[in-house]
Amino acid sequence: MKPIDTTKPVLVTGATGYLAGWIVSKLLDQGVTVHAAVRHPSNTEKLAYLTEIAERSPGAIRYFKADLLTPGAYAEAMSGCEVVFHTASPFSIRVDDPQRDLVDPARLGTRNVLEQANQTESVKRVVVTSSCAAIYGDNADRDAAPGGIFNEEIWNRSSSLSHQPYSYSKTVAEKEAWKVADAQNQWKLVVINPSFVLGPAVNPMAGGESMSIMTQFGDGSMKAGVPDLGMGIVDVRDAANAHLAAAFEPEAEGRHITSGHNSSFPEVARILRERFGDAYPLPKRTLPKWFVWLVGPIFDKSLTRKVVARNAGIPWVADNLKSIEKLGVTYRPLEETVTEMFTQLIEARRV
Ligand code: NAP
Repeated sequence: MKPIDTTKPVLVTGATGYLAGWIVSKLLDQGVTVHAAVRHPSNTEKLAYLTEIAERSPGAIRYFKADLLTPGAYAEAMSGCEVVFHTASPFSIRVDDPQRDLVDPARLGTRNVLEQANQTESVKRVVVTSSCAAIYGDNADRDAAPGGIFNEEIWNRSSSLSHQPYSYSKTVAEKEAWKVADAQNQWKLVVINPSFVLGPAVNPMAGGESMSIMTQFGDGSMKAGVPDLGMGIVDVRDAANAHLAAAFEPEAEGRHITSGHNSSFPEVARILRERFGDAYPLPKRTLPKWFVWLVGPIFDKSLTRKVVARNAGIPWVADNLKSIEKLGVTYRPLEETVTEMFTQLIEARRV
């Protein structure tokens, strides 16, 4: 990666997010001035951890108020920036209205941010945080993947407003990003497609799905066992490194599956049991598919019978070679990611 130009500010949308926290922290570490676009800049308590990182870093942080659905909201924050990281997007598995709560902010927000890039002459590169969810919807989609392995050529065709709506929102948002990017030649779009992100947060009290799932492993919610759900996992710090390389590596282009390990819920449970033993009510068994199919929807409305049928017991496999070769990402061992995240939750008394 070429040395980072610290003379120009860099915009990070959704700077309060779990993944964005590490992107912001690493930029500050490099001496960059970060324009942090957040919904509530007056909430200094929520931003205190970012402000503290900035105070002990060579870089600086400036907060700007911006909501994804307000046209022109990112104009001031983007002014003078060559690089834009667009990470903001609702990540929630349980929502009341998928169109309003997921798809609109994801797609219209992406269009809003990228159209602002068109109007901001200084912008040369936009890095969009998409997801592996824009590549596949269900593990069963592997049947259509070459050799049963997900790669960057593949698009999620199985998700919809009624089935895996979060994955649908990420798919339509990334398509929107490519549509806006392909219609101009002022800036280059580079996309990062992380799998499920785990690892310690910059803010130990961070919310979001990643922290929530790991908390559920330790707070007794999964005491009865875990479904045999295969998934990719990437450490949040490795995913942040991929974003920086996507921004500052001159040759970077296209999509990048950013996933360290082809893993599963039972594997995460095993790592936690081996390291933390009986001190916490960790899941001890893998629930049979028929059982999850029968009772899953009663406990968790996102675990529909179709989701169980098309995912449980089907391993998740993706090709992460492009991220290694083109972005220089190195992936840390899964044990490190899982145990360091769980340790952080213990220390923060969240489990
Ligand atoms: P997160 O902690 O929930 O962060 C989401 C961020 O988006 C927050 O800063 C949030 O702001 C912002 N946001 C949501 N709705 C917004 C709106 N209407 N206007 C402005 N900002 C809005 O989630 P995360 O896990 O870090 O995810 C960050 C990105 O990575 C997302 O694009 C997500 O889809 C993607 N991703 C995550 C994972 C994962 O496993 N975590 C995997 C693949 C891809 P507030 O703080 O104000 O709510």
